[in-house]
Amino acid sequence: MFGCQAPDTGNAEIIAHYGTEEQKERYLRPLLEGEIFSSYSMTEPHAGADPTRFTCRAVKDGDEWVINGRKYFSSNAKTASFLIVMAVTDTEVSRYEGMSMFLVPTDTPGIEIERNVGLYGEPMNEGFHALIRYDDVRVPAASLLGGEGRAFAVAQTRLGGGRIHHAMRTIGLAQKALDMMCERALSRETQGGRLADKQFVQGYIADSYAQLVQFRLFVLYTAWRSTSTTTTRRSARTSPRPRSSCRPCCTTSPGGPCRSTARSAPRTRCRSSR
Ligand SMILES: Cc1cc2nc3c(=O)[nH]c(=O)nc-3n(C[C@H](O)[C@H](O)[C@H](O)COP(=O)(O)OP(=O)(O)OC[C@H]3O[C@@H](n4cnc5c(N)ncnc54)[C@H](O)[C@@H]3O)c2cc1C
Repeated sequence: MFGCQAPDTGNAEIIAHYGTEEQKERYLRPLLEGEIFSSYSMTEPHAGADPTRFTCRAVKDGDEWVINGRKYFSSNAKTASFLIVMAVTDTEVSRYEGMSMFLVPTDTPGIEIERNVGLYGEPMNEGFHALIRYDDVRVPAASLLGGEGRAFAVAQTRLGGGRIHHAMRTIGLAQKALDMMCERALSRETQGGRLADKQFVQGYIADSYAQLVQFRLFVLYTAWRSTSTTTTRRSARTSPRPRSSCRPCCTTSPGGPCRSTARSAPRTRCRSSR
């Protein structure tokens, strides 16, 4: 129902959970129908993902909020139709109660992407993770997602589920990598025989298969816990950390790390989601 692409999956979930009917119609429906992309803008350059240190500020001005600050690693911002921005709205209370979440169309005046950070080997300004400046960005009061002061609860809902989404995507990626490793082992002849006939490679494949099955079951267990408890925080604590899917890249050297084949992608994606 929620698709499988980050960061749209988590964004869709929180709009479904906390959004008003109007917000669902404007943002959720086209998101689920694959007509638009979205971005989640929480991390800050100086504070990382520690919300107690956030300084991006939203101040009320009549029927509008005015947002000022900078956000880092806002994935897919350059293709997104809207951003979900976390900002400090009350400095008198703790950050856990003093931040709010806003739905902000990316063409709102005052939004500037300073650069798009790339991962491993991607050209410097051609990646997908944006450093964004918000400079007197005005949004109507109806842009609040989940109500004033509710950003921390919204973020927890999103990030707890988001960890499971990353793990689910990694299952598919690891399965594809394993399939590629098997194909390579069967098709490559070297040192007097096929790779598939070498005991060391057979061990690689067997270990990878066993780890993938364990990983899949662990993700299922985590998802089950998240739906059988009232809070996603518990599931976040048991979220699997995908570590077992890089081996296919090594087996297929030099094609593994080389970007001319599909085999380097799983490694890059797994490493960045970790
Ligand atoms: C590919 C990618 C995409 C991203 N997309 C988005 C996005 O769309 N939107 C967004 O808002 N953010 C995004 N981020 C940012 C991401 O959420 C944060 O970078 C991540 O949560 C880590 O937070 P941090 O940068 O503050 O690291 P830090 O918290 O500074 O962690 C640095 C190191 O310290 C360790 N550490 C941290 N706290 C402790 C502790 N209490 N005890 C011991 N060790 C600790 C960590 O394990 C880590 O090794 C993205 C990041 C990446 C890499």
